[in-house]
Amino acid sequence: MEIKGKIVVITGASSGIGEAAARMLAGLGAKVVLGARRPERLESIAAGIVKDGGEAVFAVTDVKRREDLSNLVKLAVEQYGRVDVIINNAGIARLSRIDELDIEAWEEMIDINLKGVLYGIAAVVPEFKKQGYGQVINIISTSGIKIVPLQGVYAGTKNAVRTISEAFRQESKGAYRITGISPGMIRTELTEGITDPAMRSAMQEHVSAVAISADAIASAVVFAIGQPSDVEVGDIVVRPAAQD
Ligand code: NDP
Repeated sequence: MEIKGKIVVITGASSGIGEAAARMLAGLGAKVVLGARRPERLESIAAGIVKDGGEAVFAVTDVKRREDLSNLVKLAVEQYGRVDVIINNAGIARLSRIDELDIEAWEEMIDINLKGVLYGIAAVVPEFKKQGYGQVINIISTSGIKIVPLQGVYAGTKNAVRTISEAFRQESKGAYRITGISPGMIRTELTEGITDPAMRSAMQEHVSAVAISADAIASAVVFAIGQPSDVEVGDIVVRPAAQD
């Protein structure tokens, strides 16, 4: 596995899957550049990595703001000289019936889950062009594969990312490596963002019955990054064995 020395930018690194990937990659010798909105979380995760002998820096990053992503990538280049990988992981799940018309939630999911990924790609591509290589890992979802009620807009943003990832993969013809990872139910803070209290507790009950650890997704990230430069891992689905 070629992880040691890789420069990896991670969005949504302040909890859940992003945090688990940061810790696992740093433990294997990657230099991680962490972005999210909560500075105190980022600071404590970066400090923990450094205390354990790893390398990590962070910048407060809202993926709704294109300049924040540019600054995050700039931090990687200033600090470590280049960027090898971006993990577009930041995401929210504000689930509701479509006929409830929670338009503000639709817009927020589109801005973060879809446009945030595009802004991440836009931030790294100029560096990848200079370097002649680079890797994009997009965290998608099984909810984009098995369509269920209440997740329509969330799954729509995730399936848009799946489509964009595949087109980008075909266009890049080996110049860049593009990986999509679709987690199933993972034990994280994601369900806390569900605004409707009844739906939140129903979802949390369901998740706690079958969900698996974020380390399962971090391991898939490590697998995708660790392949030789001529090997691209296209799509990975990682879900609880007990998930429908
Ligand atoms: P968490 O809620 O634990 O993590 C989400 C992360 O995204 C946090 O670090 C949060 O940090 C960050 N984030 C949210 N909004 C923004 C923003 N505007 N700008 C920057 N960062 C933001 O959930 P998960 O770890 O589960 O989620 C990670 C990804 O995995 C998401 O894309 C999610 O859709 C996907 N996923 C999760 C599944 C699960 O079962 N948990 C299943 C399938 C996919 P902060 O608030 O500090 O900004």
